[in-house]
Amino acid sequence: MILIAIDHAHGAPRRGAFELVSAARDLGGEIAAVVLGGPDAGPVAAALAAFVPRVIHVDDATLDHASHERRVTALAGVATELGAEAVLLGAGRSGQAVGPRLAWRLDGALLEDVAAVRREGSTLVAERLAYLSRASLTVRAEASPVVVSVKAGAYPAAAPADAPGTVASRAATFTAADDAARLGERRSVARGRVALEEADVVVCGGRGLGDADAFERHVVGLAHDLGAGVASTRAVVDAGWRPYDEQVGQTGKNVAPQLYFALGVSGAVQHLSGMNRSGTVVAINKDGDAPIFKVADYGIVGDVHEVLPALRAALSGLD
Ligand SMILES: Cc1cc2nc3c(=O)[nH]c(=O)nc-3n(C[C@H](O)[C@H](O)[C@H](O)COP(=O)(O)OP(=O)(O)OC[C@H]3O[C@@H](n4cnc5c(N)ncnc54)[C@H](O)[C@@H]3O)c2cc1C
Repeated sequence: MILIAIDHAHGAPRRGAFELVSAARDLGGEIAAVVLGGPDAGPVAAALAAFVPRVIHVDDATLDHASHERRVTALAGVATELGAEAVLLGAGRSGQAVGPRLAWRLDGALLEDVAAVRREGSTLVAERLAYLSRASLTVRAEASPVVVSVKAGAYPAAAPADAPGTVASRAATFTAADDAARLGERRSVARGRVALEEADVVVCGGRGLGDADAFERHVVGLAHDLGAGVASTRAVVDAGWRPYDEQVGQTGKNVAPQLYFALGVSGAVQHLSGMNRSGTVVAINKDGDAPIFKVADYGIVGDVHEVLPALRAALSGLD
């Protein structure tokens, strides 16, 4: 049995959930999904049932705002009950926190931040990318169950299953140890902003924008026109123009949208490692030798301040 831990927001599964379904289907065998949370999680579980045969909803509103320990307890309970051989979760921030704790709690193995996972006999074997995706490591799980955190974009989003699955609800039991650390405050992405990891289109601005005002006008403006997520390079974040949660790259987020705009971005390897799973890449840079053009599908050599207004005007004329 492969158990998928589903991340969700605003009453819907996050995009990565459907990528995990593909990973589980590739492994073969029985599949179940677990959804944690109060009223918002009900529709999530129902949506998941179109993709996997069995969905367990751990119905407890405290899990919406709980510390990682409560979530680990709830996940470990379901994994143990189902006798899961593996638990798949996303390798984002929550997966980074929950994965190691869950592997320890289950007395199992952890395959972390993997780009692919497969079976070799009864062993799960994963590929991990290293050195800015220039090398690949093969990692074997030597214990069971195996907690596997999967990189965003590593698998395509799954199509619905032929037949709908079932949803069952459970309560969770917690101990005082689960509340040894409490979540103080959670701030969500401002209303109207598209979450970067979820976005099908990402508009990224680099130092070539010149200053924070130009970034707001051009990059945020284009993102708004397209309903896209806003991303930044580290140079922009270090300059204080944009918040760290927009940084893409080795020391920021990994994104894998269908369309990625790189505007005034040089294309340093540390940046590329965070976006090189994007579908189509469009780059605008005034330097025709900028490394970003090596990964771009469409490149415009020109000044962003001239090209972008023309591009936005042209896009506004489209239906
Ligand atoms: C350990 C480590 C980790 C790092 N992690 C990250 C990371 O996570 N993410 C990240 O992004 N970087 C990271 N970096 C930094 C990275 O090496 C680069 O310094 C950074 O990505 C450069 O950002 P940039 O492209 O915005 O700026 P620059 O390198 O300054 O490039 C600006 C680009 O804009 C172009 N330009 C200038 N003016 C215009 C204009 N008017 N119109 C069009 N184009 C213009 C220039 O030709 C240039 O190519 C890391 C570095 C290290 C050492």
